[in-house]
Amino acid sequence: MGKVLYVYECAECRKRGEQRLDGDSHDGEASTCASCGAPVTLEWDGGVVLETPQTIAADAIARARERK
Ligand SMILES: [Zn+2]
Repeated sequence: MGKVLYVYECAECRKRGEQRLDGDSHDGEASTCASCGAPVTLEWDGGVVLETPQTIAADAIARARERK
């Protein structure tokens, strides 16, 4: 499982931050603003996956080829 990018916008200081967590199940989870420490809610950033394992990448390529 690769690292998934989550973003948040702090309601206190308006900072837009990001966190990388394992897996895509952290959407809506509470976290803490890196700037002011206020509570924030993580939002899944549209499926941006970092450090994608080779097997998943190969899988995606195979599926893309099947569509053509
Ligand atoms: Zn903040």
